[in-house]
Amino acid sequence: MLQQLCSLTEMASCINFTDEASDSVRRKWTVDGTYTARSSYRCQFEGALRTNDKELIWSAKAAPRAKTFLWLATRERCMTADNLAIRGIPHNPNCPLCSTAPETAAHLLTVCPYSAELWSSVIIKLGPPFSALPVATTAANNDGSLRSSWTSQLRALPGPAHRNTWRSAICLIAWMLWKERNARIFNATHCSPRQVVSRIMDEARCWSAARIHQLDRLFEPP
Ligand SMILES: [Zn+2]
Repeated sequence: MLQQLCSLTEMASCINFTDEASDSVRRKWTVDGTYTARSSYRCQFEGALRTNDKELIWSAKAAPRAKTFLWLATRERCMTADNLAIRGIPHNPNCPLCSTAPETAAHLLTVCPYSAELWSSVIIKLGPPFSALPVATTAANNDGSLRSSWTSQLRALPGPAHRNTWRSAICLIAWMLWKERNARIFNATHCSPRQVVSRIMDEARCWSAARIHQLDRLFEPP
């Protein structure tokens, strides 16, 4: 407090006070120093971390459940083995899709050989310019996150129409991988990547019927 008092005294020493002038309150968050609700709101979030959730997830044309899952996955909050271990919940530490690596959201949804095959199959079906997309491996990105993998892919695509398609595709593929993972754990059923691609096309048809047309090229003849 003494240090603050000294600082305040030093600052106040440069100010010439006059008895005639009345005091006024001036806000530093607006140019003219007046109060606005907007400036107050901005002040509340000063220093807050910004994400590109809107660009990657919330602006996607996709089923809300798929977007919510993607949001959890990008925060590594979905209940993969690493998170189950943190919570002390019984689990198999290995990835249910390949059984060769520890299960994490990043492994399950991108680098797992099973998932990589699935992504490649869908990319082939979508055709150019998607076939030129950089591979979504976490190792290829600076911060090693799912978010940066998928964001780099989105930004590599030309034009908003293609980016909209890929946004929807990311939501759908990640969601269907998660469903396949859960089916293996809870129902003891196994589908090949080819079968899951077929399910992805069926789901894309359902989304199209619900006026989500971004993935129509998945099942329409070229
Ligand atoms: Zn795996």
